[in-house]
Amino acid sequence: MKKWSESRAPAGRYAYVNGRYLRHGEACVHVEDRGLQLGEAIYEVCNLRHGRLIDEEPHLDRMERSLREIAVAMPLSRAALKSVMRELIARNRIKDGLLYIQVSRGAAKRDHVPPANMGRPTLIITLRPQDLAGLEKRMAQGVAVSTQPDIRWGRRDIKTTNLLPNVMAKVAAKKKGAFEAWLVEGGKITEGSSTNAWIVTADGEIVTRDLSSAILAGVTRKLILEAAAEAQMKVSERAFTLEEAKSAREAFISSATGACVPVVTIDDAPVGDGRPGPLTRRLGTLYARKTGLEG
Ligand code: PLP
Repeated sequence: MKKWSESRAPAGRYAYVNGRYLRHGEACVHVEDRGLQLGEAIYEVCNLRHGRLIDEEPHLDRMERSLREIAVAMPLSRAALKSVMRELIARNRIKDGLLYIQVSRGAAKRDHVPPANMGRPTLIITLRPQDLAGLEKRMAQGVAVSTQPDIRWGRRDIKTTNLLPNVMAKVAAKKKGAFEAWLVEGGKITEGSSTNAWIVTADGEIVTRDLSSAILAGVTRKLILEAAAEAQMKVSERAFTLEEAKSAREAFISSATGACVPVVTIDDAPVGDGRPGPLTRRLGTLYARKTGLEG
């Protein structure tokens, strides 16, 4: 059987690992890396569109915050990091893609407590082309979501690479024919497995969960909220129940990979008339204009 690196990673793709630009299939980290061994790592995903990084600064702000929360130093200054990101984009010759940044505490003999003389953090950056046709189809047709219990830890505001519960939820949702899992805790939706969750109520109120350690503070969420406020749309940041979601007029999900992707069914029941809704589309357009996604 062919290795993934041989069969899938296109020739000419490069990854960045700790100061070096390496062929994607050959890039690797130390076997004792604490990200690999203990999940002591955080990440960011930034959308590259028309050769420009969308929402770059807020993604880097959140990355710095996640690192502060786990007491790991920034591996490079922000200016140096940005120039590495640009160099990787240039080397990969990709205009529309997803840039992935991961930082772990670094490599050391496996022990829960890191050694006092811990070396530098591990920095990985990869870039892959985005499936724009797939995204366009999801935007046009909407997606199905399946609700799953939210079994994650108590610090979901940290963008950790520990995604096992998210992976399990999304796999369970996929088995039910859904694109995304909506996670439910105490009868309320927290967020999606890799997206923030939104509804538009029967009286036109746009609702998404308020920020706390129960959810990730999505960068796309923040900019959609700003765009909605600028357009004087009625928005409320609060928890909403599964029942409320099921009787909503519209629903959608947001993330760097797709802003305002309409949700047309929840657990196989249609949302509204079962088609992408007008407010979802309007917010998507406002977000695209605000962030330069439109080009
Ligand atoms: N919620 C979770 C659990 C996520 O993993 C993500 C993105 O990865 C989001 C929300 C959306 O965040 P952003 O808009 O910053 O991509």
